[in-house]
Amino acid sequence: MIEDKNPQRTPLSELGEFKLIEHLTAQFKINHKSTVLGIGDDAAILNPSKKQIVVTTDLLVEGVHFDLSYVPLKHLGYKAVMVNISDVCAMNANATQITVSIAVSNRFPLEALEELYAGIETAARLYNVDVVGGDTTSSTSGLIISITAVGEVEEDKVVKRSGAKPNDLLVVTGDLGGAYMGLQVLEREKEVFKVNPQNQPDLSMYTYIVERQLKPEARKDIVDLLKELDVKPTSMIDISDGLSSEIIHICKQSNVGVDLYENKIPLDPQVISTCEEFNIDSTTIALNGGEDYELLMTISQEDFPKIKGNPNLTVIGYMTEAERGMHLITRAETKVPIIAKGWKSFNENEKQ
Ligand code: ADP
Ligand code: MG
Repeated sequence: MIEDKNPQRTPLSELGEFKLIEHLTAQFKINHKSTVLGIGDDAAILNPSKKQIVVTTDLLVEGVHFDLSYVPLKHLGYKAVMVNISDVCAMNANATQITVSIAVSNRFPLEALEELYAGIETAARLYNVDVVGGDTTSSTSGLIISITAVGEVEEDKVVKRSGAKPNDLLVVTGDLGGAYMGLQVLEREKEVFKVNPQNQPDLSMYTYIVERQLKPEARKDIVDLLKELDVKPTSMIDISDGLSSEIIHICKQSNVGVDLYENKIPLDPQVISTCEEFNIDSTTIALNGGEDYELLMTISQEDFPKIKGNPNLTVIGYMTEAERGMHLITRAETKVPIIAKGWKSFNENEKQ
Protein backbone atom coordinates (compact mmCIF):
# COMPACT_ATOMS: atom_id res chain seq x y z
CA MET A 1 0.00 0.00 0.00
CA ILE A 2 2.81 2.35 0.86
CA GLU A 3 4.39 2.97 -2.50
CA ASP A 4 8.10 2.46 -2.85
CA LYS A 5 9.39 6.01 -3.23
CA ASN A 6 12.94 4.79 -2.93
CA PRO A 7 13.65 2.49 -5.85
CA GLN A 8 17.36 2.33 -5.07
CA ARG A 9 18.26 -0.77 -3.09
CA THR A 10 21.77 -1.02 -1.70
CA PRO A 11 22.36 -4.43 -0.04
CA LEU A 12 23.58 -4.11 3.57
CA SER A 13 26.41 -6.51 2.79
CA GLU A 14 27.93 -3.83 0.55
CA LEU A 15 28.77 -1.67 3.59
CA GLY A 16 29.65 -4.04 6.39
CA GLU A 17 28.68 -3.47 10.01
CA PHE A 18 31.01 -0.62 10.93
CA LYS A 19 30.31 1.46 7.82
CA LEU A 20 26.61 0.85 8.34
CA ILE A 21 26.67 2.09 11.94
CA GLU A 22 28.78 5.07 10.93
CA HIS A 23 26.42 5.87 8.07
CA LEU A 24 23.24 5.61 10.12
CA THR A 25 24.49 7.50 13.16
CA ALA A 26 26.41 10.33 11.47
CA GLN A 27 23.36 12.62 11.68
CA PHE A 28 22.97 12.53 15.45
CA LYS A 29 23.95 15.62 17.44
CA ILE A 30 24.62 15.83 21.15
CA ASN A 31 22.66 18.54 22.98
CA HIS A 32 22.60 17.63 26.65
CA LYS A 33 25.26 18.70 29.11
CA SER A 34 24.75 15.36 30.84
CA THR A 35 26.00 13.51 27.74
CA VAL A 36 29.76 13.41 28.23
CA LEU A 37 30.42 10.91 25.44
CA GLY A 38 28.02 9.58 22.79
CA ILE A 39 28.37 7.04 19.99
CA GLY A 40 31.81 5.69 19.10
CA ASP A 41 33.34 4.08 22.16
CA ASP A 42 32.54 0.85 23.98
CA ALA A 43 30.00 2.68 26.11
CA ALA A 44 28.50 6.14 26.39
CA ILE A 45 29.33 8.35 29.38
CA LEU A 46 26.59 10.28 31.19
CA ASN A 47 26.94 12.75 34.01
CA PRO A 48 23.44 13.45 35.29
CA SER A 49 24.24 15.80 38.19
CA LYS A 50 22.14 15.43 41.34
CA LYS A 51 18.89 14.29 39.79
CA GLN A 52 17.42 10.82 39.84
CA ILE A 53 17.81 8.77 36.71
CA VAL A 54 14.95 6.81 35.16
CA VAL A 55 15.69 4.06 32.64
CA THR A 56 13.17 2.27 30.43
CA THR A 57 13.27 -0.13 27.46
CA ASP A 58 10.79 -1.19 24.81
CA LEU A 59 11.18 -3.95 22.26
CA LEU A 60 9.29 -3.86 18.95
CA VAL A 61 9.14 -7.01 16.84
CA GLU A 62 7.97 -7.12 13.22
CA GLY A 63 4.80 -9.18 12.85
CA VAL A 64 3.99 -8.80 16.56
CA HIS A 65 4.08 -5.05 17.20
CA PHE A 66 4.11 -3.66 13.69
CA ASP A 67 3.23 -4.60 10.13
CA LEU A 68 5.44 -3.04 7.48
CA SER A 69 2.76 -3.41 4.82
CA TYR A 70 1.14 -0.24 6.14
CA VAL A 71 3.62 1.26 8.59
CA PRO A 72 6.23 3.36 6.79
CA LEU A 73 9.70 2.77 8.27
CA LYS A 74 10.13 6.44 9.05
CA HIS A 75 7.00 6.34 11.21
CA LEU A 76 8.18 3.16 12.84
CA GLY A 77 11.46 4.81 13.89
CA TYR A 78 9.56 7.81 15.22
CA LYS A 79 7.09 5.64 17.14
CA ALA A 80 9.81 3.41 18.61
CA VAL A 81 11.36 6.53 20.19
CA MET A 82 7.96 7.89 21.30
CA VAL A 83 6.89 4.79 23.22
CA ASN A 84 10.04 5.08 25.33
CA ILE A 85 9.77 8.82 25.89
CA SER A 86 6.17 8.22 26.94
CA ASP A 87 7.35 5.86 29.70
CA VAL A 88 9.85 8.48 30.88
CA CYS A 89 7.07 11.14 30.93
CA ALA A 90 4.91 8.78 33.00
CA MET A 91 7.54 9.04 35.75
CA ASN A 92 7.22 12.86 35.53
CA ALA A 93 10.78 12.88 34.18
CA ASN A 94 12.50 14.48 31.18
CA ALA A 95 14.01 12.12 28.61
CA THR A 96 17.62 13.02 27.89
CA GLN A 97 19.32 10.10 26.11
CA ILE A 98 18.36 6.98 24.15
CA THR A 99 20.16 3.97 22.75
CA VAL A 100 18.88 2.20 19.64
CA SER A 101 19.46 -1.48 18.94
CA ILE A 102 18.34 -3.16 15.76
CA ALA A 103 18.33 -6.67 14.38
CA VAL A 104 17.72 -6.65 10.65
CA SER A 105 17.45 -9.31 7.95
CA ASN A 106 19.11 -8.91 4.58
CA ARG A 107 15.74 -8.36 2.92
CA PHE A 108 16.12 -4.73 4.05
CA PRO A 109 18.29 -2.54 1.84
CA LEU A 110 20.33 0.33 3.25
CA GLU A 111 17.65 2.77 2.04
CA ALA A 112 15.09 1.14 4.34
CA LEU A 113 17.34 1.63 7.37
CA GLU A 114 17.94 5.22 6.30
CA GLU A 115 14.17 5.77 6.47
CA LEU A 116 13.99 4.13 9.90
CA TYR A 117 16.81 6.32 11.18
CA ALA A 118 15.28 9.46 9.64
CA GLY A 119 12.24 8.80 11.88
CA ILE A 120 14.46 8.18 14.91
CA GLU A 121 16.41 11.37 14.21
CA THR A 122 13.23 13.45 13.84
CA ALA A 123 11.84 12.18 17.13
CA ALA A 124 15.16 12.67 18.93
CA ARG A 125 15.46 16.22 17.61
CA LEU A 126 11.88 17.25 18.37
CA TYR A 127 11.96 15.79 21.89
CA ASN A 128 15.53 16.86 22.55
CA VAL A 129 17.09 13.51 23.37
CA ASP A 130 20.67 12.53 22.52
CA VAL A 131 21.18 9.22 20.71
CA VAL A 132 24.22 7.91 22.58
CA GLY A 133 24.62 4.32 21.45
CA GLY A 134 23.07 1.07 20.40
CA ASP A 135 23.82 -2.23 18.76
CA THR A 136 23.43 -3.59 15.25
CA THR A 137 23.07 -7.22 14.36
CA SER A 138 21.55 -9.43 11.70
CA SER A 139 18.31 -11.32 12.03
CA THR A 140 17.08 -14.34 10.09
CA SER A 141 13.56 -13.02 9.94
CA GLY A 142 12.33 -9.48 9.96
CA LEU A 143 13.16 -6.41 11.92
CA ILE A 144 13.51 -5.97 15.66
CA ILE A 145 14.05 -2.59 17.33
CA SER A 146 14.88 -2.10 20.95
CA ILE A 147 15.21 1.40 22.35
CA THR A 148 16.33 2.29 25.84
CA ALA A 149 15.63 5.76 27.17
CA VAL A 150 17.29 7.57 30.05
CA GLY A 151 15.60 10.49 31.78
CA GLU A 152 16.18 12.85 34.68
CA VAL A 153 13.88 13.99 37.45
CA GLU A 154 14.37 15.81 40.73
CA GLU A 155 14.01 13.38 43.61
CA ASP A 156 10.89 15.07 45.04
CA LYS A 157 9.16 15.26 41.64
CA VAL A 158 9.20 11.59 40.63
CA VAL A 159 5.73 10.04 40.29
CA LYS A 160 5.15 6.29 40.57
CA ARG A 161 2.14 4.06 39.98
CA SER A 162 1.81 3.38 43.67
CA GLY A 163 0.90 6.74 45.25
CA ALA A 164 -2.87 7.05 44.60
CA LYS A 165 -5.10 7.63 47.66
CA PRO A 166 -8.87 7.26 48.16
CA ASN A 167 -10.70 10.46 47.06
CA ASP A 168 -7.96 11.44 44.60
CA LEU A 169 -9.28 12.49 41.20
CA LEU A 170 -8.59 10.24 38.22
CA VAL A 171 -7.40 12.42 35.34
CA VAL A 172 -6.53 11.62 31.74
CA THR A 173 -4.83 13.73 29.06
CA GLY A 174 -6.02 14.15 25.46
CA ASP A 175 -8.55 11.68 24.09
CA LEU A 176 -8.70 7.90 23.85
CA GLY A 177 -9.32 5.16 21.32
CA GLY A 178 -7.93 6.99 18.28
CA ALA A 179 -4.85 4.84 17.76
CA TYR A 180 -6.86 1.62 17.87
CA MET A 181 -9.48 2.89 15.41
CA GLY A 182 -6.68 4.15 13.15
CA LEU A 183 -5.29 0.62 13.14
CA GLN A 184 -8.73 -0.80 12.23
CA VAL A 185 -8.89 1.54 9.24
CA LEU A 186 -5.35 0.63 8.11
CA GLU A 187 -6.05 -3.10 8.47
CA ARG A 188 -9.23 -2.77 6.44
CA GLU A 189 -7.36 -0.93 3.68
CA LYS A 190 -4.69 -3.64 3.68
CA GLU A 191 -7.38 -6.26 2.98
CA VAL A 192 -8.85 -4.12 0.19
CA PHE A 193 -5.35 -3.70 -1.27
CA LYS A 194 -4.75 -7.47 -1.22
CA VAL A 195 -7.81 -7.99 -3.40
CA ASN A 196 -7.17 -5.02 -5.67
CA PRO A 197 -3.64 -3.55 -5.61
CA GLN A 198 -4.80 -0.80 -7.99
CA ASN A 199 -7.08 0.57 -5.31
CA GLN A 200 -5.49 3.61 -3.67
CA PRO A 201 -6.99 4.12 -0.22
CA ASP A 202 -8.85 7.31 0.59
CA LEU A 203 -7.97 8.01 4.19
CA SER A 204 -9.05 11.65 4.20
CA MET A 205 -11.96 10.94 6.56
CA TYR A 206 -9.62 9.29 9.03
CA THR A 207 -6.61 11.59 9.16
CA TYR A 208 -6.69 12.16 12.93
CA ILE A 209 -7.01 8.51 13.95
CA VAL A 210 -4.53 7.23 11.36
CA GLU A 211 -2.04 9.79 12.63
CA ARG A 212 -2.74 8.67 16.21
CA GLN A 213 -1.73 5.15 15.12
CA LEU A 214 1.23 5.99 12.89
CA LYS A 215 2.63 9.06 14.61
CA PRO A 216 1.91 9.02 18.33
CA GLU A 217 3.27 11.87 20.43
CA ALA A 218 4.60 11.34 23.95
CA ARG A 219 3.03 13.86 26.37
CA LYS A 220 6.22 15.67 27.33
CA ASP A 221 4.12 18.85 27.19
CA ILE A 222 2.08 17.52 30.12
CA VAL A 223 5.18 17.06 32.27
CA ASP A 224 5.96 20.73 31.58
CA LEU A 225 2.33 21.74 32.18
CA LEU A 226 2.17 19.97 35.56
CA LYS A 227 5.31 21.80 36.59
CA GLU A 228 3.82 25.10 35.46
CA LEU A 229 0.57 24.43 37.33
CA ASP A 230 2.57 23.33 40.35
CA VAL A 231 0.71 20.01 40.46
CA LYS A 232 2.45 16.78 41.39
CA PRO A 233 0.17 13.82 40.62
CA THR A 234 -0.04 11.20 43.36
CA SER A 235 0.41 8.46 40.74
CA MET A 236 0.88 8.30 36.97
CA ILE A 237 1.13 5.78 34.11
CA ASP A 238 1.12 6.10 30.33
CA ILE A 239 -1.70 4.52 28.34
CA SER A 240 -0.09 1.94 26.10
CA ASP A 241 -2.49 -0.99 26.58
CA GLY A 242 -5.83 0.74 27.10
CA LEU A 243 -7.51 2.69 29.89
CA SER A 244 -8.81 -0.29 31.88
CA SER A 245 -5.55 -2.15 32.21
CA GLU A 246 -3.72 1.08 33.20
CA ILE A 247 -6.40 1.89 35.80
CA ILE A 248 -6.01 -1.62 37.19
CA HIS A 249 -2.22 -1.13 37.44
CA ILE A 250 -2.68 2.06 39.46
CA CYS A 251 -5.37 0.52 41.70
CA LYS A 252 -3.39 -2.66 42.40
CA GLN A 253 -0.10 -0.86 43.00
CA SER A 254 -1.67 1.88 45.13
CA ASN A 255 -4.13 -0.44 46.91
CA VAL A 256 -7.18 1.67 46.06
CA GLY A 257 -10.45 1.21 44.16
CA VAL A 258 -11.98 3.45 41.49
CA ASP A 259 -15.25 4.82 40.17
CA LEU A 260 -14.78 5.67 36.49
CA TYR A 261 -17.55 7.60 34.71
CA GLU A 262 -18.32 6.48 31.18
CA ASN A 263 -19.78 9.85 30.20
CA LYS A 264 -16.53 11.63 31.16
CA ILE A 265 -14.16 9.57 28.95
CA PRO A 266 -12.79 11.98 26.31
CA LEU A 267 -13.36 10.82 22.71
CA ASP A 268 -12.56 12.62 19.47
CA PRO A 269 -15.54 12.98 17.10
CA GLN A 270 -13.60 10.97 14.50
CA VAL A 271 -13.30 8.08 16.96
CA ILE A 272 -17.06 8.22 17.59
CA SER A 273 -17.97 8.29 13.89
CA THR A 274 -15.49 5.53 12.97
CA CYS A 275 -16.77 3.36 15.83
CA GLU A 276 -20.30 3.83 14.43
CA GLU A 277 -19.08 2.88 10.98
CA PHE A 278 -17.37 -0.27 12.29
CA ASN A 279 -20.31 -0.95 14.58
CA ILE A 280 -18.17 -1.07 17.74
CA ASP A 281 -18.89 0.56 21.07
CA SER A 282 -16.63 3.58 21.57
CA THR A 283 -16.36 3.07 25.34
CA THR A 284 -15.07 -0.48 24.77
CA ILE A 285 -12.45 0.97 22.42
CA ALA A 286 -11.40 3.67 24.90
CA LEU A 287 -11.14 1.05 27.65
CA ASN A 288 -9.37 -1.67 25.70
CA GLY A 289 -7.82 -0.14 22.58
CA GLY A 290 -4.11 0.44 22.95
CA GLU A 291 -1.32 2.77 21.91
CA ASP A 292 -2.83 6.18 22.66
CA TYR A 293 0.23 7.17 24.73
CA GLU A 294 -1.77 9.61 26.78
CA LEU A 295 -1.04 9.97 30.50
CA LEU A 296 -3.36 8.70 33.22
CA MET A 297 -2.82 10.19 36.67
CA THR A 298 -4.39 10.67 40.05
CA ILE A 299 -4.48 14.13 41.59
CA SER A 300 -5.26 15.17 45.13
CA GLN A 301 -8.63 16.99 45.50
CA GLU A 302 -6.69 19.98 46.88
CA ASP A 303 -5.12 20.47 43.47
CA PHE A 304 -8.44 20.50 41.61
CA PRO A 305 -8.63 24.32 41.35
CA LYS A 306 -5.23 24.28 39.58
CA ILE A 307 -6.34 21.86 36.84
CA LYS A 308 -9.99 22.90 36.57
CA GLY A 309 -10.98 23.89 33.04
CA ASN A 310 -7.61 22.96 31.54
CA PRO A 311 -8.39 21.55 28.08
CA ASN A 312 -5.51 19.05 28.33
CA LEU A 313 -6.76 17.39 31.49
CA THR A 314 -10.09 15.61 31.95
CA VAL A 315 -11.36 14.31 35.28
CA ILE A 316 -12.90 10.91 34.53
CA GLY A 317 -13.49 9.53 38.02
CA TYR A 318 -12.17 9.27 41.53
CA MET A 319 -10.32 6.76 43.64
CA THR A 320 -12.02 4.87 46.47
CA GLU A 321 -11.06 2.49 49.27
CA ALA A 322 -9.73 -0.75 47.79
CA GLU A 323 -12.66 -2.74 49.27
CA ARG A 324 -15.11 -0.85 47.06
CA GLY A 325 -13.50 -2.36 43.99
CA MET A 326 -12.96 -0.98 40.49
CA HIS A 327 -16.09 0.07 38.61
CA LEU A 328 -17.28 1.81 35.51
CA ILE A 329 -20.39 3.91 36.10
CA THR A 330 -22.21 3.66 32.78
CA ARG A 331 -24.33 6.34 31.11
CA ALA A 332 -27.36 4.37 32.31
CA GLU A 333 -25.89 4.71 35.84
CA THR A 334 -25.25 1.02 36.32
CA LYS A 335 -22.01 -0.18 37.94
CA VAL A 336 -19.89 -2.56 35.91
CA PRO A 337 -16.63 -4.07 37.19
CA ILE A 338 -13.51 -2.93 35.29
CA ILE A 339 -11.60 -5.85 33.85
CA ALA A 340 -8.50 -5.87 31.68
CA LYS A 341 -9.34 -7.23 28.26
CA GLY A 342 -6.09 -5.73 27.11
CA TRP A 343 -5.02 -5.25 23.61
CA LYS A 344 -1.77 -7.06 23.85
CA SER A 345 0.38 -8.80 21.34
CA PHE A 346 0.13 -11.97 23.43
CA ASN A 347 -3.65 -12.06 23.13
CA GLU A 348 -3.38 -11.37 19.42
CA ASN A 349 -1.00 -14.29 19.01
CA GLU A 350 -3.17 -16.66 21.00
CA LYS A 351 -5.96 -16.18 18.52
CA GLN A 352 -3.81 -17.48 15.66
P1 ADP B 1 30.67 -3.04 20.34
O1 ADP B 1 31.30 -4.04 19.45
O2 ADP B 1 31.51 -2.58 21.49
O3 ADP B 1 29.27 -3.42 20.73
P2 ADP B 1 29.74 -1.56 18.10
O4 ADP B 1 30.70 -1.65 16.98
O5 ADP B 1 28.54 -2.42 18.10
O6 ADP B 1 30.54 -1.71 19.46
O7 ADP B 1 29.25 -0.06 18.22
C1 ADP B 1 30.10 1.04 18.02
C2 ADP B 1 29.44 2.28 18.51
O8 ADP B 1 28.26 2.54 17.76
C3 ADP B 1 29.00 2.19 19.96
O9 ADP B 1 29.12 3.48 20.53
C4 ADP B 1 27.55 1.81 19.87
O10 ADP B 1 26.84 2.23 20.98
C5 ADP B 1 27.12 2.52 18.59
N1 ADP B 1 26.06 1.81 17.85
C6 ADP B 1 26.10 0.55 17.35
N2 ADP B 1 24.96 0.24 16.70
C7 ADP B 1 24.17 1.33 16.79
C8 ADP B 1 22.86 1.64 16.33
N3 ADP B 1 22.11 0.75 15.65
N4 ADP B 1 22.36 2.87 16.60
C9 ADP B 1 23.08 3.76 17.31
N5 ADP B 1 24.31 3.55 17.77
C10 ADP B 1 24.87 2.33 17.52
MG1 MG C 1 27.83 -3.80 19.43
